[in-house]
Amino acid sequence: MKKKPRVLFASFEAEPFLKTGGLGDVAGSLPKAIKAQGYEIRLIMPKFGTIPEKYKSRMKHVCDFTLDLGWRHQYCGIETLKTQGVTCYFVDNEYYFNREGTYGYLDDSERIAFFSKAIMDCIPHLPDFDPDIVHCNDWHTALTPVYMRSHYCPEELRNVKTVFTIHNLKFQGIYSKWCIGDLLGFSEDEAGYLGLLEGDTVNYMRGAICMADRITTVSPTYADEICGQFYGEGLGYIFLNRRDVLSGILNGIDNNRYNPAEDANLYEKFDMDNFIESKKKNKEAFQAELGLEVNGDKPLMVIISRLTEQKGLDLVLWILGELMSQDVQLAVLGVGDKKYEDSLRSMAGYLPNKVSVSLTFSEPLSHKFYAAADMILVPSLFEPCGLTQMIAMRYGTLPVVRETGGLKDSVKPYNKYTGEGNGFAFANYNAHELLFTLKDAINLYYNSPVEWNNLVNNAVATNFSWDASAEKYSDLYKGLLG
Ligand code: ADP
Repeated sequence: MKKKPRVLFASFEAEPFLKTGGLGDVAGSLPKAIKAQGYEIRLIMPKFGTIPEKYKSRMKHVCDFTLDLGWRHQYCGIETLKTQGVTCYFVDNEYYFNREGTYGYLDDSERIAFFSKAIMDCIPHLPDFDPDIVHCNDWHTALTPVYMRSHYCPEELRNVKTVFTIHNLKFQGIYSKWCIGDLLGFSEDEAGYLGLLEGDTVNYMRGAICMADRITTVSPTYADEICGQFYGEGLGYIFLNRRDVLSGILNGIDNNRYNPAEDANLYEKFDMDNFIESKKKNKEAFQAELGLEVNGDKPLMVIISRLTEQKGLDLVLWILGELMSQDVQLAVLGVGDKKYEDSLRSMAGYLPNKVSVSLTFSEPLSHKFYAAADMILVPSLFEPCGLTQMIAMRYGTLPVVRETGGLKDSVKPYNKYTGEGNGFAFANYNAHELLFTLKDAINLYYNSPVEWNNLVNNAVATNFSWDASAEKYSDLYKGLLG
């Protein structure tokens, strides 16, 4: 029997073990969908101390070895666990990964170099898995394609292909040059050849973009955008040079995880048969829980997001006063920059029955937000793909987005002449364009319920399952393996 092609899929986070954002969603669901395309795919991620005990207690030891990183000789264990049909490997080193949080430590340059090198170094030690392709995701795994084209690559891995997927170009892993030799163990010449150097800095992601056999990002529009100066974050000229191996594949969502008919987090489960009444019940229970005025007829807007510049919070704050003079409610779920948290909190204090702000990261609460809302605001400055607009549509909540990256590729703006669309969109990064679009949406909600419900039907019917994307990854892998 012909052997299935084998893929090692590397990510710093993955559901159900750990999620801090969209990467966790994607790494938790895409491998399953790729497996269904006929691949033997295995996930590899760090064994974080914060992974729930119910998973840690089921992990089995696979192997351990000493990993060399510059002058360091570190313990590296590999543990394994199978979940939902996918074998997962966990890179074990208590010093690097048994911590309270996931990102943002002073030694991230070292922890991430360790993880990236472990992905390569562990392969010869795995008893029953020799991948044809190593598929890396974001800057936390960016050094793997680099090491695999360096003198450190074991002979037997020289033909293994690498794919590097960019989920967010904003985070590249840029450090001072000291780490070339001391940490990464390269000479300056080799680091230059491997694409790691940019002026006086070392840039992990730049290395992956130069060395990977294929580069993908998470929407076709973002793949075009990053070839230019603004969205390219300083690397646009390299993307232009490598345009022939760069492509954009839109993310999907896990339709089982986000399914209002089965979602135990909701006040009341629903499908399209009981949508209108159930949406209202969810909204009213939600309003009561959050201290908003309880009135199922009021349009409820939500934001579920990291509170950072990327997500368009500056636009929202600029028009918030004017927006809240409309007969609407706003509920925000997110954590992030203090300036946004403080401004939103003060607005909630000022208008407690119209604005609610939950400054926390809570998966169960987020499902209640998606289900209760009528609209979700995603006015991002840039958005590689964005998942919240897709999840929201699954719950019959209409997205209001800026036309950029994956938002442009997933939301079809309402056309008042034809009635087509599954949401609302505006083009420029301009606060009043956002406000006018919101006013149009609010107006439609109050005055044209039939048209509104048509849009909701269109949104719910939009297919964001992983199948189409997994097929595209499969084509990409086939192209690589010849
Ligand atoms: P990001 O750029 O943060 O990855 P995405 O839209 O791609 O943005 O994915 C965000 C994911 O994180 C979604 O699954 C969203 O529901 C979830 N999320 C964001 N903020 C919160 C929060 N405060 N609590 C719970 N889930 C959140």
